[in-house]
Amino acid sequence: TRPATTFAFDNSFARSLEGFYVPWQGEQAPKPRIAHLNEALAEQLGLSLDASDETLAAILAGSETAEGSEPIAQAYAGHQFGGFSPQLGDGRALLLGELLDTEGQRFDLQLKGSGRTPFSRGGDGKAVLGPVLREYIMGEAMHALGIPTTRALAAVTTGEQIRRQGLKPGAVLARVASSHIRVGTFQFFAARGAWDGVSKLADYTIMRHYPELIDKENRYLALFEAVARRQAQLIAQWMQVGFIHGVMNTDNVALSGETIDYGPCAFMDQYDSATVFSSIDRNGRYAYGSQPQIGQWNLARFAETLVPLIAPDDENLAAELLTDALTEYMASYKQAWLTGMGRKIGLASAEGKDTALIQILMGTLQGEHVDFTLFFRRLGDSLVSTEGKVALLALFDDPEAIAGWLKDWQARLEEEGRPADATAEAMAKVNPIYIPRNHLVEAALQKAEDFADLSEVRQLLDVLSNPYEERKGLEDYARPAPSDFGPFVSYCGT
Ligand code: AMP
Ligand code: MG
Ligand code: MG
Repeated sequence: TRPATTFAFDNSFARSLEGFYVPWQGEQAPKPRIAHLNEALAEQLGLSLDASDETLAAILAGSETAEGSEPIAQAYAGHQFGGFSPQLGDGRALLLGELLDTEGQRFDLQLKGSGRTPFSRGGDGKAVLGPVLREYIMGEAMHALGIPTTRALAAVTTGEQIRRQGLKPGAVLARVASSHIRVGTFQFFAARGAWDGVSKLADYTIMRHYPELIDKENRYLALFEAVARRQAQLIAQWMQVGFIHGVMNTDNVALSGETIDYGPCAFMDQYDSATVFSSIDRNGRYAYGSQPQIGQWNLARFAETLVPLIAPDDENLAAELLTDALTEYMASYKQAWLTGMGRKIGLASAEGKDTALIQILMGTLQGEHVDFTLFFRRLGDSLVSTEGKVALLALFDDPEAIAGWLKDWQARLEEEGRPADATAEAMAKVNPIYIPRNHLVEAALQKAEDFADLSEVRQLLDVLSNPYEERKGLEDYARPAPSDFGPFVSYCGT
């Protein structure tokens, strides 16, 4: 049977980068069924997909190969928690091919959980429904928040039971990304001294993600600078919504500047810059407040792969240029952070002096264990309504703790001179009311895994698709976890 939809694959990675992957096939899933389909994304890709189409389900489970698809497992290396693994690669992922969306943008269509590959090592190559839906929810939430991210096209159940802690329903995530080129992809070839490979990959990356750099005099340095700028922007955006990636290994840093590989990631509730959710991050390497520095550390590993390309005869010169670019990364991060945090507190144009104002605020929020998301939302509300002001102060055990800061803030707003309602409106556009709160996500996933009931997942996705507009009847989605939820620990799940 033919699927109702044909994909117009155009596989530039497979065509241009032989030796960077292994052609591969997915395993046979006993009973593939589409559990959830991203209709909006399908539309953006110009695909009309039918969730009940069994052939489509088989394709998105990796059991059948669509026409024009050249499934491959990509090679990459990576620093995991600081230690280098020269060979990781797609151990349970399969790139089906590339698609052009309705605007001509190129996307990877990749499966996760479609079975073992030559890169699987000890793993079973599989994924289970809970974590697949978790990645689905987190990616959609990030997208709606305006943060660059991979996105789920579909979650497919395989009909297989997978051994994890007990038996869990097997699933495959079909996801879409600008590409899956990672810092670790560069490291794979650099670690082998395959500099031809590194420059081929760099040229491909420039063509695909930074075409404006093709004619630059030193295009590899320009590539590094551009990637660093996008990482700076991305991580600043994470910080502004309280997102903790959880596994910022170099194999999880995409050259496109998208958030990739949603494992034990989570959104922070009570503000604390030392927050770590991941069970495997025992030393807090990837804590909320460490993310900007880790971003720089990861870029330094990327820089190392480019040294011979940037100044082939003068390693010192290359090192100097790259060190400057790494310093520049931190400067752009700080600028992006200041601008973004400034907007969160209603400043149209934050200046250097506002850094202190924001830092004092963050210190107060940390000391008072205030909910990060609700604070900024209610801060905006407090400008235009008494209820807003009451709700803001109710977030504090001791409202006196914020009184002095509120005065300074008011004075600073007056300096900008925007009318209060305009400021409140601008703040509501950057301060979400709905984020994927851990207790909501866990409850939705449990229902899906235990009872094959995705109603709560669908409802959550619907709420999160419009995070900035507060709606009646959705009060439970805006509230912090009840105290009996306890401290949240996220697992790599797999
Ligand atoms: P991650 O922690 O998701 O970034 O994955 C790190 C590496 O482990 C990658 O090479 C993955 O492909 C591989 N991996 C993770 N889970 C599995 C699994 N269940 N089977 C095979 N490989 C896996
Ligand atoms: Mg990964
Ligand atoms: Mg992962």
